[in-house]
This record gives sequence, structure tokens and C-alpha cells, in this order.
Amino acid sequence: MVAYQEQDITAGWEEILSKDKYRLMISEVSANYPDKKSIFVSYKDIEAYSIDFAMFVLENPDMCITKGKAVVKGLLPPTWDGKDQVNLRITELPCDAKVDIRLLRAKHLGKLVAVEGLVRKATTVKPRMIHALFRCARCNAEQWVEQTGMLLKEPVMCTNTEGSCNKQAVRFIIDEKESKYIDTQKVEIQESPEGLRGGAQPERLTGFVEDDISGIITAGNRITLNGVIRSVEKPDRDKSTVFEMYIDVMSVEFEQHEYDEIQITEEDEKEILSMSKDPNLFDNIVASISPTIYGMEEVKSAIALQLFGGCHKEMDDKTSIRGDIHILMVGDPGVAKSQILRYMSTLAPRGIYASGKSASAAGLTAAAVKDDFGDGRWTLEAGALVLADKGLACIDELDKMTPQDRSSLHEAMESQRISMAKAGITATLQCRCSMLAAANPKFGRFETEGMGTLTEQIDLPPALISRFDLLFVLTDKPDRKRDSNLSRHILGVHRRGEIRQIPEDAVLDGVNVEEVREMTTNVKPYYDVELLRKYVAYSKHVVPVMTDEAVKIIQDSYLRIRDIGRADGTITITARQLEALVRLSEASARLKLSTTVDAEDAQRAVRLVEYYLSSLASTNDGQWDMGAIDSGFTKKDRDRTKIVLGTMDMFGSPEGITLDELLAHVESEGMAEGELNKVLRSLVERGTVYCPRDGMYKKA
Ligand code: ADP
Ligand code: MG
Repeated sequence: MVAYQEQDITAGWEEILSKDKYRLMISEVSANYPDKKSIFVSYKDIEAYSIDFAMFVLENPDMCITKGKAVVKGLLPPTWDGKDQVNLRITELPCDAKVDIRLLRAKHLGKLVAVEGLVRKATTVKPRMIHALFRCARCNAEQWVEQTGMLLKEPVMCTNTEGSCNKQAVRFIIDEKESKYIDTQKVEIQESPEGLRGGAQPERLTGFVEDDISGIITAGNRITLNGVIRSVEKPDRDKSTVFEMYIDVMSVEFEQHEYDEIQITEEDEKEILSMSKDPNLFDNIVASISPTIYGMEEVKSAIALQLFGGCHKEMDDKTSIRGDIHILMVGDPGVAKSQILRYMSTLAPRGIYASGKSASAAGLTAAAVKDDFGDGRWTLEAGALVLADKGLACIDELDKMTPQDRSSLHEAMESQRISMAKAGITATLQCRCSMLAAANPKFGRFETEGMGTLTEQIDLPPALISRFDLLFVLTDKPDRKRDSNLSRHILGVHRRGEIRQIPEDAVLDGVNVEEVREMTTNVKPYYDVELLRKYVAYSKHVVPVMTDEAVKIIQDSYLRIRDIGRADGTITITARQLEALVRLSEASARLKLSTTVDAEDAQRAVRLVEYYLSSLASTNDGQWDMGAIDSGFTKKDRDRTKIVLGTMDMFGSPEGITLDELLAHVESEGMAEGELNKVLRSLVERGTVYCPRDGMYKKA
């Protein structure tokens, strides 16, 4: 490695900065200071000057930047105030300067590196004093003191030899107004989930951003921080020799293209295109989703479509319509919900797995927290949905989420934004992700009898449940045929797993190794996970448009399902499901990289929505009733309410009516005690009915 002397470094910078583009930047800075105060130098230009010099800059950034700044100052007009800082920031670092957060070591200290990651926390921007102006308390002489650390440095003595204080003064008055400040922001990035195959915990790195580039980073961004790795002593009571690393940020690069992290070569592209022509493509993709899990074809088909997603639309009036498909699985324990979520979080590009009862303050959405991270400053912390922006958020145990999440999740799912207005932070975080969620029934297991409708058995607000495009109810009921197939499958999975561990040519008593291997090939994903992820990333550029035929199929089936409820006023399906139909059929077309949504796609979507409605009906006396989802109140409930209120009108005295009397009357109308209680509970909750005394009901 060439060692450059001071004058060589200066010469290097003079040569590089003499390029027209940098001369222009410098004159812009001098004209617009302090709105513009940085010269951004591309690493490529340094390399073009000399590869050795460029390497030297990476190894000795502090010295080189100081020299470079001096050169910049020389190029500024002579009238320039020496205390007005101009920054020299190097951007576009080469691939070999990239370091994974988990691989940062002592050898990187003091070096210029590029670190990629996902912003987990970002503080508000606060000023820090860099040059303090002091006045001598006696002679009023001015003195500038450069500030570097966290504590304010005062002058030692007055420097004015002619002043009245005779250099004796010990008291100085700071002029806060005239002193110079820069903005600062502290951020924390974590490794992006793509680098984390195998479920490792993401490593984090703190970054300090200063001056004109502070405030451009918000939680949830995918960025590259170019900067110098430094260390600070851990803020413990005892002096310690173990230091904490951080990055002193020189420049920030935002992700340019979607899915930059997934490299698709020309070869990959060829493979993807030929894959898209396979007539069995859909089934093969479904066969690549959690193949060790037996059955659940509908769930897997839905998840396959979710991976691809519908089209995000911007309308003429600037409103946007989400294309992401949200799926909720509610089911008995042990039906492989968690298993599927974990699988999908590794399969999907930008998949994140989180649990509703996560320990972090940000939870699923986001939080403004005041922790020691920001030295007591307010810090915005991104939750799982924000971290999964443009990806898939796999949320387990959704019913266990925190109350804050409960209230902000509606917005997050529908408008795909989370607005924060707390403690001076007003920020909008993007969470354009699909959500695959799982929840357990409130009482442990689903009951078809006596525990009420589906929504009553799930501990989630009905309005939230209705935000999901598809909802699957997974029950675990003994069923001889299914149980036998399921157990055969699971045993096969375990056997194959065992055989994978032993030598290829092993011969064992009582096992035909070769035969077992043959018989269990179906638990191997049809497509390799890496390839499928590339395929999904590639497909996102396709925007399919609905054909006339597809529109007709979707509309007809919507009207047909609506009609089922027309006779007795039940709402079987709402506009929400209509939108779900559109998204699902778009996804089906995108899956084939097709530019049109065809009849086949629309039919696939209709089949899925019908399956979902009929699976709901199985927990709702066989009725297709969207009211059960939207409001938790079915048509039957409404009819029963009418009977109860009517009875009160007819038989109630001015003091009200007793429960026993009410029961006697409604029983003759075919209502059971449990049903009466449910109706009364909701009427009291809504304030329509109240209890003047115990066991007595009266209309309000
Ligand atoms: P849940 O989250 O629904 O309570 P889990 O995902 O923890 O259930 O699953 C429990 C275990 O049962 C897992 O090890 C899973 O592999 C197994 N299992 C459950 N259902 C199936 C199935 N249909 N096929 C294969 N394995 C299954
Ligand atoms: Mg689970």
C-alpha cells in the first residue's frame, strides 16, 4: 500500500476538486451558505484520479478529509468566514468497502466503510454547539473555543493582553446567540432481514449524523451509511477497556430500486422466464410453500397469491388503493400456524417474523420513546410492520398485541402508513407490506356450539378482522381419514429428516432407505427457495390489467353471493371482499408474469373467497353472513334484538321487566337463555337498555 505524504494528499484533492462538477458545487455552496454546506465527492472520481490514493483514503479517512477540507477552503472566496464549516462527504463507496454489521471488528476502527441496514430508531434533530463564543467578564474581550465533546469547554484565561483584566479574568460569559451550532441526529440501523437466513437475531449499529444531512433519515428506511467506524467507552461506572463501536456518518445513500438486495443475473432472468411458462406453475409454487406441512391447500394457495400481491394504484385524485393482500389464520393450537409464518418470513423477500406480544416498545407499528438511546431525546422506533415495508410481515399471536397496536393497526393495514404525532415528533412511517397473521381462539379452541359466533371467539376487534382480505378458520377435529394421512405425512417428514443425517449408502434393518427417500420427495420444495424469492422480486415489475372477461366473472360472482342474502336481508359479502377478489386475481396474473388478468385468474380468486366464506359459515350455523365479521353482529342477532325490544314494549311496566318474565316471553319465540343474555349484554353496552336494579331491565 502506498503511503501518501501530506503534500501528496493535498495535491490529490486539488486535482480531484478541479473537476468542473466540484467547482460548480463549491460555488453553489459559497452562494447559498448555509442552505448548502457540503461537497459530495463520488468515490469513483477519487478512483479515477488514482486507485492507490482512493485506497489510502479508505484507510486514513480522518487525515484525508481534514486535508481535503483545507483544499476546499482554499477554493472558496477570500472573504469566507473561517468558522463557517464546509463538509467534504465521500459517497458511492465501492463494494469492497461494504461491511456487514455483524462482521465489524477492531480492524475497522478509524476506517471508512459502507454499512447497509434498516433504520430501526432515529432521534429528533437537535443542535450541538461546535464553536462557543465567550466574553471576558471584566474586559469584555471575545474568545472562540472549539467544542468537541459532550461537556462545554470554557477558556482557561483571557487572551487580551491590553485589556483591563490583565489576563487575570477567570469568569467568562457565553454568547449563545453568536456561537456556532450544527444539527445532530442519532440513528440505529439493523441488518436487513435478507442477510439473516437461518433466524439469527439482527445485529445493530449506532450512527451519528451531523449537520446538513441530519433529519433525512426516518425509522423504516433502507439505507447505506458511509462513514468512519469509531469507538466509545461503554458508559459504565467503572473505567473499562471494552469499547462500543459506532459509525460517524459521512454520507447516506437511500435504496434506489426496489429489492436492490436481491441480485437477479441474466441467467436467473432466463430461468425465471422459462419458469413462468410452465403450465403447472401455480401448483408448483404452492408445492414450494411449507411442503413439510400436510394439507392446507387453500391456505397455501392464498399465501402463494399473497407473495405476489395485487397492484398498488394511484388514482387521479391522488388517493391510493392498496395492492397488498392481508391474510389472517385463526385456529386451534397445534395446526401449524406458527410453522407456516416462520417459513414464509424466510421465503418472502423482506419477510419479518414478529409476535403480537413482542417485547420491544415499538411493537407492531411504531413508538416514540424516550430512552437513553437518544440521551433523553425523543426517538422514533420502527415496529415490525414498518421494518417489513414492501415485504411480508408475518405476525404470530396477533390477538396478544398491545393496546397501542390495537388502535393504530387499522390505519397501518388500510392506508399502509403510520402517523406519529407525539412529543414534538410528527412523522409518517411507511408500512407498505402484506400481513400474514395468526391468532388463537379466545377460549383456547373453537367451539361450534354455545360459544357464539366466530368474532366472539377471536379476541380481536371486528373492524380489524374485516381489514383482512382472507380469513381462514383452522379447526382441529378428529377425523379418521385426515388424521391417518396427516400422521403418515408427519412421520414421513421425520423419517426423511433422519435419513438426511446418515451416510448416503447406509444399509439398515427394517428400513428401505431408498424407498423412504423416494416416497417423501413431496416434502422437498418444488422450487428452490432462492429461485422462488428471485422470481417473486422479478414479478413485482409486472402490472396486469383486468380483461373484460375477468371483470365480468368478478362482478357476476359478487352479485351472486350478494343475492344469497337478499331474501332475508343478510349481508353475505361487502365491497371489501369485492376488492379482495380484484387483488387476488391480479396476484394470480402476476404470478404468471402475465400482463392481463384473465378468466382463469378471476376464477381462482372467486374460488378462494367462496372457500373462505363457507369456512366462516361453518362456525356460524351454516350462514354466509359478513355482519358476523364486520360488526360481530349477525342477521340472527339483529332479529333476536327486535324480539327482545318488542317484548319489553309489550309486557314491560314503567319500572321495566324482570329477567325471568323476559325469558318466559322470548322462549315462546324460540330463543334460548344464552341468546337472550347475549342480546341484553350488547343492548346494555350500547346504552339502549339499562338495569334500574338487579335482574330488572328497562328501555332507556
Ligand atoms: P400453532 O402455531 O398453530 O399452535 P405450530 O405451528 O406450533 O402450531 O405447530 C405445532 C407442530 O405440529 C409443528 O411442529 C408442526 O410441524 C406440526 N404440525 C401441525 N399440523 C401439521 C400439518 N398439517 N402437517 C405437518 N405438521 C404439522
Ligand atoms: Mg403458534
